[in-house]
Amino acid sequence: MKSNCILLRYGELALKGKNKADFEDRLVNNIRAKLEKFTGVSVTKMRGRIFVEFNDQAIEPMIQELSEVFGLVGFSPAVRLDSEIELIQKAALELAESQGPEVRTFKVNSKRADKRFPIGSQEMNRRIGGYILAHSPQLKVDVHNPDLIVHVEVRGKYSYVYGNDIPGPGGLPVGSSGRVMLLLSGGIDSPVAGYLALKRGVELQAVHFHSYPFTSERAKQKVIDLAQILTRFGGRIRLHVVPFTEIQTEINKHCYESYSITVMRRIMLRISQELARKHKALALVTGESLGQVASQTLESMNAINEVVQIPVLRPVIGMDKQEIMAIAKRIGTYETSILPYEDCCTVFLPKAPKTKPDREVAARQEAKLDTARLIREAVEGTEIIDLSPDRNEEEFSYF
Ligand code: ATP
Ligand code: MG
Repeated sequence: MKSNCILLRYGELALKGKNKADFEDRLVNNIRAKLEKFTGVSVTKMRGRIFVEFNDQAIEPMIQELSEVFGLVGFSPAVRLDSEIELIQKAALELAESQGPEVRTFKVNSKRADKRFPIGSQEMNRRIGGYILAHSPQLKVDVHNPDLIVHVEVRGKYSYVYGNDIPGPGGLPVGSSGRVMLLLSGGIDSPVAGYLALKRGVELQAVHFHSYPFTSERAKQKVIDLAQILTRFGGRIRLHVVPFTEIQTEINKHCYESYSITVMRRIMLRISQELARKHKALALVTGESLGQVASQTLESMNAINEVVQIPVLRPVIGMDKQEIMAIAKRIGTYETSILPYEDCCTVFLPKAPKTKPDREVAARQEAKLDTARLIREAVEGTEIIDLSPDRNEEEFSYF
């Protein structure tokens, strides 16, 4: 019997007390948005479970979409049928027989949400287990460590039969933790940082500093493409593209070369904080990871971070490059990130950047610039690009 329904489990939400209803509603809305493109699919919430019901749909594309919805802990493709013991037995047997050869043992786990159903759950386990054993002699019962658990839930008029859980992405539903502003370069790390922030339930906006013509239109398009990939996990994403050419030129003209990166980063943070305030984001997110490059020492973070009051989150701080790359590959940003288009930091890379910049020197160097005006003009000149998940593939592959 083909699955005609998917049972969804969600975990952490249950811990959230009075916010639980909000969280559940958000999760259901996020699921609906993901499954909108399939026709004849309904998503309903019922007693701590979410049900996706459908008729003639292939299940894999739906599971693929659901695997990108944070807050989901697991999925079970299920068969929904009338609550009659004969039908349930048959469906349980079909489920057991549809497994691969690695499944040799099973147990039945029945639940009766509706006590009007005449058979108790122990008795159901026995009957269904006996039925499977009688028809599939190669299978054995193992109540402690079975390869397959045959779940049976009787819920009123309908019952559900399903097997082992497919793990979901976990995390919290996007939109449940407030809004953040991601500093998105064209590199490998910041898209992964954005993904990890989304996993904790934030709504994402992104800011990119663009130094045209030092950096090309294609470098900008690469960042748009990265943000577009993140919409698969984050829904709509607003990308702010900040004109950064004049600031970089001014830094090069007036500041010590060895401090140019430190000053540039300070100004990036100041502008990002302005944009965060303007667009009601409560934190910045960066792809910094300790010790990876010259500007990522603790001394450097001190000299840079001191110019803002807003929290700066660094989700990849504890990861090695290999771990970050593995996530980038899994979420589909890696191939775009490694395209060779230059980014504003590499164009002006000094020969010998200070790895342990001094905060006071950095402040003095920055003071040589008309920072207030430069920041104001950059913020005013910022271009807003709104991205949503439904952009089609043709528009997507720009190169
Ligand atoms: P990434 O792989 O994310 O580019 P990185 O290892 O190259 O990071 P840095 O160049 O030191 O590291 O940049 C640190 C962080 O600063 C980036 O992860 C990103 O959050 C932010 N950043 C750097 N350049 C830009 C830019 N042009 N626009 C927006 N944010 C940037
Ligand atoms: Mg980079």
